[in-house]
Amino acid sequence: VKWVYTFGGGTAEGGIALKELLGSKGAGLAEMSALGLPVPPGFTISTAIGQRYLANGRDFPAELAAEVQAAVEGIGRITGRRFGDANDPLLVSVRSGAAVSMPGMMDTVLNLGLNDQTVEGLARASGDRRFAFDSYRRFMQMYGDVVLGVDQSVFEERLEDFKLAKGVGFDEELSADDWQAICDLFKGLVLEELEIAFPQSPEEQLWGAIRGVIASWNNPRAAVYRRINGISPDAGTAVTVQAMVFGNLGATSATGVAFTRHPSTGEKVLWGEFLPNAQGEDVVAGTRTPQDLTEAARRETGSDLPSLEAAMPETFAEFREVCERLERHHRDVLDLEFTVERGRLWMLQARPAKRTAHAALKTAVDMVHEGLIPKAEAVMRIEPRSLDQLLHPTIDPDAAGDLFARGLPASPGAASGSVVFSSDEAELARAQGRKVILVRVETSPEDVHGMHAARGILTTRGGMTSHAAVVARGMGKPCVSGAGTIRVDLQAGTMTAGGRTVRRGDMITIDGGTGQVLVGAVPLREPKLSGDFAEIMQWADEIRRLKIRTNVDTPADARAARSFGAEGIGLCRTEHMFFDARRIAVVREMILAETPAERADALTRLLPMQKADFEALFEIMNGLPVTIRLLDPPLHEFLPRGDAEIEELATIMKISPARIRARTQALAEANPMLGHRGVRLAISFPEIVEMQVRAMLEAALEVGDRLGQAVELEIMVPLVATKAELDLIYARIRESEAQVKKLHGRAPHFMLGTMIELPRAALAAGELARSAAFFSFGTNDLTQTTFGISRDDAATFLNTYLQMGLLPSDPFATLDRDGVGALIRIAVERGRATRPDLQLGVCGEHGGDPASIHFFAESGFDYVSCSPFRVPVARLAAAQAEI
Ligand code: ADP
Ligand code: MG
Ligand code: MG
Repeated sequence: VKWVYTFGGGTAEGGIALKELLGSKGAGLAEMSALGLPVPPGFTISTAIGQRYLANGRDFPAELAAEVQAAVEGIGRITGRRFGDANDPLLVSVRSGAAVSMPGMMDTVLNLGLNDQTVEGLARASGDRRFAFDSYRRFMQMYGDVVLGVDQSVFEERLEDFKLAKGVGFDEELSADDWQAICDLFKGLVLEELEIAFPQSPEEQLWGAIRGVIASWNNPRAAVYRRINGISPDAGTAVTVQAMVFGNLGATSATGVAFTRHPSTGEKVLWGEFLPNAQGEDVVAGTRTPQDLTEAARRETGSDLPSLEAAMPETFAEFREVCERLERHHRDVLDLEFTVERGRLWMLQARPAKRTAHAALKTAVDMVHEGLIPKAEAVMRIEPRSLDQLLHPTIDPDAAGDLFARGLPASPGAASGSVVFSSDEAELARAQGRKVILVRVETSPEDVHGMHAARGILTTRGGMTSHAAVVARGMGKPCVSGAGTIRVDLQAGTMTAGGRTVRRGDMITIDGGTGQVLVGAVPLREPKLSGDFAEIMQWADEIRRLKIRTNVDTPADARAARSFGAEGIGLCRTEHMFFDARRIAVVREMILAETPAERADALTRLLPMQKADFEALFEIMNGLPVTIRLLDPPLHEFLPRGDAEIEELATIMKISPARIRARTQALAEANPMLGHRGVRLAISFPEIVEMQVRAMLEAALEVGDRLGQAVELEIMVPLVATKAELDLIYARIRESEAQVKKLHGRAPHFMLGTMIELPRAALAAGELARSAAFFSFGTNDLTQTTFGISRDDAATFLNTYLQMGLLPSDPFATLDRDGVGALIRIAVERGRATRPDLQLGVCGEHGGDPASIHFFAESGFDYVSCSPFRVPVARLAAAQAEI
């Protein structure tokens, strides 16, 4: 087996095709090197080693040492420097990089190979003693943190103490001798903390760093990131060892990051940030304000610091060319790291750029028009869930906003919430159901859980590529970064700007599209969808086979769903209409009635209301199918709660409160989820079925006449287990139909179907299909009943299951293929065996979940039905399922 893959000097073993093995960073470097771009030479130890090492008691295969040694010598041949050479040492970085990139989550060590001798050699060879000792102390700091386990902050404290004693404010003011003294302090620190000397052998350093970087796969922030993003915990990281190049060798040196197109808007402009005379992570750390890459961007930001384009025109021109070449080669927007060492450009990383949903849409559509990619590829490039971002609100420009401060528009969308100053607080607040905005000076990977819990993120330091900005864009959360006028006082739990103070718990609103921070909860405006969105959706519609319907009960939702492209209603829950404030009293009378005559009287009054509901939905759907479910929940859900409500109802109904209480008690159930509901209600209360069916049929007749087009009505019965239940209810529905015929001389056409939401129904599907013309899978209940987990009670243990990896994902969010999915397949097979044209649909939450949609497409479904805002997500996912 081969463990080590080299790159550099215009060639490479492997490239982007070996991403699983080399990690995305290693693969990207190899690809650039093979293209002949300027990449410092190096090699990548494959992810197979990373996996083995963590699984097999932290041991390496015997051959690895020799392969690594040969590869290090190879770097030496290309650079003309030797590892450990006391005169002109080769220094390397040791970099983490998994197949799925996890920006900033794992560790990297720079400047490795420095010790008390080689630092002198570096000073002589570079002619810059200050640089050499600054590099040495950076190395000790990173190595100390990643490999030896001495926290960064301990080093930082020593450095701060030193500066304080010298009366110096900025690192820039420290001399070569100062840095040398600091190196001695750091060595002393390691001795003190660990009772070992800082390792001087470059060989030992290299293996220490390799082990440290591999182990960083398991650090807590990486684990959290993987859990949030659904990345397998077993994939492991590759390790890339690469010759150092230095952006901190004076004014003609620099380091930076760039995107080949704008990561927020998707505009076709090169965009990025850099710092002169700086090394690697200084840009993302947000400790110095980065400068714009291009003149155009500088004019826009109004910065008085020169752009790279102005400061180093020749290097910039070369860089622009490299960017264009790479983008054409990868046919995708890239995120690049580069360093300029004394005027010479070096490429250090290239990977597909994380981008906002807005930018993803625009770039995918633009690239189709530019002839770079086909339509299907564009459709594949949009993460269906990310469309949620586009449906995010913005601050209503007509609202009177009370501006508190302004920062960078780091990730679009607006959000209101109460202020919290720590990630733990944010998480706690979310658990309590509170909406919060996380306010930090800057965020680090330790804040990911808090960012996840918050509605939006506000930082007072850092640029558009700061940690907060990058992570928020990835999460699709609104973020305003670098709001520099805000002073945060953690002790007092306040932040101040312009002489005003906002306290912990106060409401604020941020708009990550404009950078505004406003006091209070400001009205937000719903988004308008762009032409790019419509274009991608049209391409998706051309590809997909599954129809997309929607679950709605109100005219407003039905209209929204139509505007998102819904092709019918897959689930209308009639009970929602009963909760209406004006009707609930009649509904309660109906339930509390003690004789069929009393009940019939209440139902007569409900009939016109229910009919009006259906008319509105039929009209909006304008000939598209509408599936209506008979009353489903247990009746006690409609009854009054608490003394006040009971008294009030008693007065209206002119009966005693005691009677109401008695009836409420009679309807109480030990386990309502499995109790008197669904078809069981329809069996006990035929009058309710009769009223509902009459309302549907009469509404369909009238609207059909008005529109001059028949209504496509589908009636479904919930919670059915046996064919006998179904036949009884269907017979009653037919009786109602006959009644309508008698009254009006005709009745509309409709389909009769059933929900499949009990394991028995799935298994007996062959029988049910004799009577039912369609199945609609109620996957929420089917998941509850298959697992025997009550969704309402799952909160107390389901998270534990997920954290312990006992379930791969929440089965109420993503369909459990092996169990619930197996039942569905059985039902599909048996149902279609009886009735080949049986119509199959889904109306549970899973109908809006991309992974589940793939399953339904594969299983031969006709449609999925989901909530209105999920319709675009479902349209896209259904197309991706066909590609
Ligand atoms: P991350 O995955 O956190 O971005 P990287 O491995 O990319 O970590 O490295 C962190 C920083 O160090 C980046 O800015 C990168 O460009 C820089 N860096 C890494 N290797 C080298 C090198 N050989 N020479 C100069 N800078 C480097
Ligand atoms: Mg890092
Ligand atoms: Mg990087």
